[in-house]
Amino acid sequence: MMASDSVIEITGLSKTYGSGKNQTLALDRLDLSVLRGEIFGYLGPNGAGKTTTIRLLLDLIRPSAGSASIFGLDIRADSVEIRRRIGFFPAELSLWEGRTGDQIIHYVASVRGDTRSIAKHADELAERLDLDTTKRVRDLSSGNKRKLGLVIGMMHSPELLILDEPTGGLDPLVQQTFHTMMDEYRAKGKTVFLSSHVLSEVQAICDRVGILRDGELKAVESVEKITDVEFHWVDVGFRDAIPAGLQQTLEGMPSITDVSTNGARVRMRMIGDFDPLLRAIGAGYVESLHIEEPTLEDIFLAYYSGDKEN
Ligand code: ADP
Repeated sequence: MMASDSVIEITGLSKTYGSGKNQTLALDRLDLSVLRGEIFGYLGPNGAGKTTTIRLLLDLIRPSAGSASIFGLDIRADSVEIRRRIGFFPAELSLWEGRTGDQIIHYVASVRGDTRSIAKHADELAERLDLDTTKRVRDLSSGNKRKLGLVIGMMHSPELLILDEPTGGLDPLVQQTFHTMMDEYRAKGKTVFLSSHVLSEVQAICDRVGILRDGELKAVESVEKITDVEFHWVDVGFRDAIPAGLQQTLEGMPSITDVSTNGARVRMRMIGDFDPLLRAIGAGYVESLHIEEPTLEDIFLAYYSGDKEN
């Protein structure tokens, strides 16, 4: 991989909060490259260290160790230049409670230069996200504040967007609009780094995903590849009842785990070929058969449990 292909380059980045007994290692020697033109999903449960990473990248907090660069510029020494070129949720929103969306948009647009065209794009974005920009920030719901943050982050069409939980609190229709916007970003060759704890969302919009847990990066993989694992969820519905002894047989099969039953249905997680399962079913009359691909959540859990076994 050529260095010029990466937009964000993170090396050994660590953050410890507090001191003495109250120390929290929020980020533990993170190494990560985000490539030009990709939508990178930074995935992890609450408390994993996602916000910490993003605040470090935006130079809102200082690393305890390690370094990172964006466009080859150092996140600490060159933060002003970096902020000019990227889009992000404005941390200042809370300081502007008495201002309207329009006032903030115009102010930030004027700082960014080319006020008119940026403000025009902001209007389009606000309309698509169904945001009323005439209201004061203090009168906006948390979802609408999030929308205003998105508009301000995206209005200057930055080459890199860094977003922390962008769709948290947005209703499903607006989330869908945001997903479409991300597709448009990808089509334009722009780069997005977004955090999420919603696996289906990352699955829907990202090219690659990094899985963070307890401050440690557990895996980085393409969404395609991570979804292309060889296990399936299989749900077999019998006409009358589950054949006697089938559940025990399935539980004893090496390729099958997580067997559960519900009336005349049996559900299981199956690895590899279907033949052993079909033979085990034998003469039972199968009324329905459902095969599901694993969700990212399943894969996520598999990473977790795999880690616990180590
Ligand atoms: P995420 O964004 O994935 O939910 P965070 O980066 O917010 O995770 O938090 C990572 C860890 O660091 C958590 O254990 C959290 O409690 C802790 N943490 C975050 N911010 C602070 C802070 N300002 N002071 C002390 N601990 C913090």
